[in-house]
Amino acid sequence: MSQKVDFHCHSTASDGALSPLQVLSRAAEQGVSCLALTDHDTLAGTRWLQKKAQSFPVRLVPGCEISCTWGRKEIHVLALAMDLDHPPVTAFIDRQIEARRQRSHAIAARLAARLPQYSADQCLGGAREEAWKAQRDADADFVLPEEQLQIGRPHFAAWMQREALVPDRRTAFERYLKNRQLGGIEHHWRSMQETVAAIDSWNAMAVLAHPHRYRLTATQLRALIKDFVAAGGQGLEVVTCRQAPGERERLGALCQQFDLYGSMGSDFHAPVSEYVELGRLAPLPAGCPCVMSQLQERNLL
Ligand code: AMP
Ligand code: MN
Ligand code: MN
Ligand code: MN
Repeated sequence: MSQKVDFHCHSTASDGALSPLQVLSRAAEQGVSCLALTDHDTLAGTRWLQKKAQSFPVRLVPGCEISCTWGRKEIHVLALAMDLDHPPVTAFIDRQIEARRQRSHAIAARLAARLPQYSADQCLGGAREEAWKAQRDADADFVLPEEQLQIGRPHFAAWMQREALVPDRRTAFERYLKNRQLGGIEHHWRSMQETVAAIDSWNAMAVLAHPHRYRLTATQLRALIKDFVAAGGQGLEVVTCRQAPGERERLGALCQQFDLYGSMGSDFHAPVSEYVELGRLAPLPAGCPCVMSQLQERNLL
């Protein structure tokens, strides 16, 4: 029987609904043997969990999902198995948190321009309160101080729903929160090339997350992967939940072609669907080299 692993999921350290500890407990319940908690642009959850993971039968791999750009596209790169005590890692993530802080101000200003009844401060305050509320509701032991709070578009969406500006969060994204509507907020992020080169320099592993979510043509996707590999990228997320028929096989073939390791991750955010669950993942296509074995080989696991 193959092991259950999951190298992509979220907690209340970013935009998930469960605290880091609840994610880990749930992973254990689901029979996951190896887990990377990959919150957006923060290591706060992973760091907090490290101290608590020893008592669980789950191997915790340090992780983070890093927002970056490739041209004008926003791309997500997973950094796996970095040394959390390595000063360049901390410095990199600190700048990422600062970028997100500035971006949250930019988003608030954009929203306020479209919602005359609210000031930018009210929009930002509302999103911040949603982030804290999610943390408090999940687990009073994990509530981050303001300077570490990761405010993202889902928190603005939650606030807009609470204010009855939209019927649900999806509509908030549709009407207000797409990058295009917000007018180029992606420029706050580093380039993918710089991001991947940094991860590579930490001796960690860079994995291109959900390659099919960037709305790229097959030719554009190959160009992205080529640049990703040239910068030092090593893995491609091949298996995730709810994939279209043939997608895994296509991504597996790209791994073989570009000499990349295949990764698997649910991108679990909340227990809302039986189809998106920690570790509930199909196997890698036959012949696709696996991120897991590469981490073991490099003594990172
Ligand atoms: P951010 O990290 O601030 O750029 O927000 C992106 C996050 O918002 C993603 O990681 C998803 O969890 C969530 N998201 C993206 N698109 C949608 C959507 N259409 N509806 C609901 N949530 C979304
Ligand atoms: Mn997310
Ligand atoms: Mn993502
Ligand atoms: Mn994710």
